Amino acid sequence: MIKIGAALRLQASSIHPEVQACLDRTCKELKRAFPKAYKTFKGFQFKRVNHPSYDAWDREVSLPLFGKDKPLAEVDKEENAADSSVLQLGFEGTLIHEFGHHIDHFIRAKGSEDVLTEWQALKKQLSVELGNVSRYAATNLSEWVAEEFLAEMKQKRPPKLIGAINNLMRNL
Ligand SMILES: [Zn+2]
Repeated sequence: MIKIGAALRLQASSIHPEVQACLDRTCKELKRAFPKAYKTFKGFQFKRVNHPSYDAWDREVSLPLFGKDKPLAEVDKEENAADSSVLQLGFEGTLIHEFGHHIDHFIRAKGSEDVLTEWQALKKQLSVELGNVSRYAATNLSEWVAEEFLAEMKQKRPPKLIGAINNLMRNL
């Protein structure tokens, strides 16, 4: 009985066209800005999960399906109410943050040992130099990358991390 109820609820919930359009628009932007990294990205999948997360093994992002049948303004409001969304950039912010994890993993997976060492050192140096753009950025170096990446993509901070990423990307 519980299983049937859950299945019905899942069926009833669908992606609002505005939410889908935001997803499509953001994917296009990310693809244009980071074509190499985007090529190995499997994309954003709506699933029955509670939190968005990037899976480095599958190279895809799981997004909670629940609540995505509402207009974008409402989804944005909910995203901004979440503890981790200190930057208040709504659904788009979540997407770009998660793609930041993919970029980090892409460099780690593709780079030679030298690139890897350089990337590791760069992240540490920049995190000290630039500090934490949000409370969530202080969680660990991975979250620092994702939050700083988001802030720079949305022009909230000068593109220091993105500049470093683009430099490294040339050799990948
Ligand atoms: Zn994250």
